[in-house]
Amino acid sequence: MFEKPLRDAHHSDMTIKREYKLLIIDDDEADRTLYKKFLEKVSSRHTYLFHEASNGEEGISAYEKILPDCVLLDYNLPDITGLEVLDRLSEITPILPVVMLTGQGNEEIAANTIKNGAQDYMTKSVVTAEALQRTIISTIDRATLLEKVARQNEELQAAKEKAERADKAKSEFLATMSHEIRTPMNGIIGMSDLLFYTDLNEKQEQYARSIHSSGELLLTIINDILDVSKIESGELELEKKNVDLKELITNVIQLLSSRANENRVELILHWPHTERLPNIKSDATRLRQILINIIGNAIKFTKDGYVLISLTQKEQSNGKVKMCFNIQDTGIGIPEDKIDDIFGKFTQVDSSTTREYGGTGLGLTICKRLIEMMDGEINVESEVGQGSTFSFEITAVLTNKEKQNTEQDYKDILQGKKILIVDDYPLNLELFSTYLSTTGIETMGVTDLPHMMVPVRELVTGLV
Ligand code: ADP
Repeated sequence: MFEKPLRDAHHSDMTIKREYKLLIIDDDEADRTLYKKFLEKVSSRHTYLFHEASNGEEGISAYEKILPDCVLLDYNLPDITGLEVLDRLSEITPILPVVMLTGQGNEEIAANTIKNGAQDYMTKSVVTAEALQRTIISTIDRATLLEKVARQNEELQAAKEKAERADKAKSEFLATMSHEIRTPMNGIIGMSDLLFYTDLNEKQEQYARSIHSSGELLLTIINDILDVSKIESGELELEKKNVDLKELITNVIQLLSSRANENRVELILHWPHTERLPNIKSDATRLRQILINIIGNAIKFTKDGYVLISLTQKEQSNGKVKMCFNIQDTGIGIPEDKIDDIFGKFTQVDSSTTREYGGTGLGLTICKRLIEMMDGEINVESEVGQGSTFSFEITAVLTNKEKQNTEQDYKDILQGKKILIVDDYPLNLELFSTYLSTTGIETMGVTDLPHMMVPVRELVTGLV
């Protein structure tokens, strides 16, 4: 915000007669008189109220006192240079309506003068009455315009700060409200759950179920709103604790497997089989939340297909590692023009989505923000009718926590064994044989029962 005064804004319309306050700072009295004479000669439209100073210090105090519309400033003053005067004047007003007058006509001095805030410059030897008048008027015009812009910027900044304060207050209000609503909601869900342990007739049980599932849905919405408002008000802080990635992901898959079964969706997990997962520090709860949301969506929007979850680690540097998660589904896909929208608050691809698939349209907003807080980013590629791939990466701190290496023990037992893999998903066959090949096992895969018998005969000494 400008604390320095701004002159009254006025427009130097050539058609309106005005009186301008002009300050001439020059140690040469002859020059000062010449400028005044020039201006009196040409100023039939405008009149000038002249103020004069014969050195820099005197000029600065006159400037502060009268706040002139324009200053003619000599570069070579006896006490301080014209550039120093400019510096000092800029402590008084942010915009300087100054025309610098140089003796030498030196380009470098001229450039410095403009850089230090003067609006224009003239070489003394070529000053004419008309040129002087023109330069003064255009300097006043320019300074007036710049002051207007500065004033508007100041107003915009104030409006922006006000809007940000209001936004923060709104987020804080939402966070408090959702928190307060959660407590009675837990009561409703808990009590309706207890109802199932009492004698209920069919109708009563149906009502109780309805209360229970509506309660759970409402709680999900409230939790999502609470998360969004916490993130927006900057209140959400991430934990940095040891995370067992393998356990975390397996856990998420187990949790979602019944939903996947209901949709006849095959959940496939692809580990980096050549390297061990690193030990990292991150926020396990939030990472779990992200995975549940994205994998949950992949299952929700896929019928009869698969969801492939793969995990790779990218570069390690400065004690940090980038982990990349890829969730690919064979579901309904997302139209290209909607891809950017799905990360917005309460946005779904189309209005029928809620009716058909449920949801609030807040999940991906939260995921994106959490991923960004984990120094990462999320991307989507999708084709309608073919499926979508959500990929995101996070940056996590590496830890030295040593883990027991059980892989070597398994290797010893499994070395040289033959295994027949039966799975109707070719992708699974490929994955399992890739994992097992690193342990020295010979594998053979079939996708259906009739085919199974042939390899069984071939592998009689092996394991199925
Ligand atoms: P919700 O799933 O609760 O509606 P999200 O923010 O998680 O909210 O997702 C927003 C929208 O993005 C979804 O409603 C859906 O239209 C679209 N979407 C998200 N994931 C997928 C996916 N895997 N396949 C197709 N559409 C998706």
